[in-house]
Amino acid sequence: MEKAGISMIHVDIMDGHFVPNFTMGTPITESIRRITNVKLDHHLMIEDPDTYAPVFIKAGADSVSVHYEVCRNLDRTLHMIQDHGAKAGVVINPATRAMLLDEVLDIIDFVLVMSVNPGYGGQKFIPNSLNKVRELVRRRDERGLDFAIEIDGGVGPENIAEVARAGVDWVVAGSSVFRSPDPAQAVRDMEQAAREALSLKV
Ligand code: ZN
Repeated sequence: MEKAGISMIHVDIMDGHFVPNFTMGTPITESIRRITNVKLDHHLMIEDPDTYAPVFIKAGADSVSVHYEVCRNLDRTLHMIQDHGAKAGVVINPATRAMLLDEVLDIIDFVLVMSVNPGYGGQKFIPNSLNKVRELVRRRDERGLDFAIEIDGGVGPENIAEVARAGVDWVVAGSSVFRSPDPAQAVRDMEQAAREALSLKV
């Protein structure tokens, strides 16, 4: 993946509570950290990010995103992540409105728009997520802010052009890369398709 030119590795952490599935804990983060200098982006699909965000940062996470749906004191959580030396992001599920983030847009480093419901790989892209991306781009311009917009779920060669044109800065791809016969080529192809879509943008 590093040779294919990816800019970061997105690590999905699931706790079996917030989502009905388990994935990895900090030993995996530590292991990945030892073999690459690529930035490690951690998506915490867990109910208690206040306890575990610092643990993942210590293990090697460069950026950490927490779900809007579980944070009772979101402003405090975001500052806490930044105080631990990582970039802080907020994730919104498909049923969560983008504008609920309006009060924290000036704090966050990035917004992660879920384009599937979290919990499993290989799901179908939910088209309304691009309307949220456009709304966030508009709001960022209006307020002169500079957070990045990330999208996660169901992105592949068939919709990467549309995703790029909507204004997404970071694209997460799982199945469309790792279920392809040549993952490195899949990364290059999607990158090229995104670049071409942007150069065609008027
Ligand atoms: Zn994710």
